[in-house]
Amino acid sequence: MSWSAEKLLREKGLRVTPQRLAVLELFLSESGFHWSADQIRNRVLPGIPGLARGTTYKVLEELVNTGICEELATPEGLSLYGIRLKPHQHFVCRNCHRWFDVDVSGVEELHISTASPAAVIDNVAVTFHGLCADCRKTDDQ
Ligand SMILES: [Zn+2]
Ligand SMILES: [Zn+2]
Repeated sequence: MSWSAEKLLREKGLRVTPQRLAVLELFLSESGFHWSADQIRNRVLPGIPGLARGTTYKVLEELVNTGICEELATPEGLSLYGIRLKPHQHFVCRNCHRWFDVDVSGVEELHISTASPAAVIDNVAVTFHGLCADCRKTDDQ
């Protein structure tokens, strides 16, 4: 299914601005990847010269709050942003530190045996760690 950035923004009740469009179009054109706010800003800058860092963060926050995007906290203390049009889990490469979206079956069936009966779980995040295909190739040489 192809998503139009403009349609997505409208659907989520966000006004269509050039900044929001540019950031969202980047996510849509390269879905499955996750970037820091600065990486996103650098990629969007050619189309939106003068885009401030603060504005970039604000746009990302709005996209996360409306559920279009996800924010991932990395062990290195960074925030990475990715598009989240459908539920997915992540694979992290221990060499290049890239995060990849992966489909995992059976996540819905996971449960905690020690959870307090009053606890309500609204999200399960499973992260796989290993060596990505690109880094494996370099390793073999
Ligand atoms: Zn890698
Ligand atoms: Zn993701």
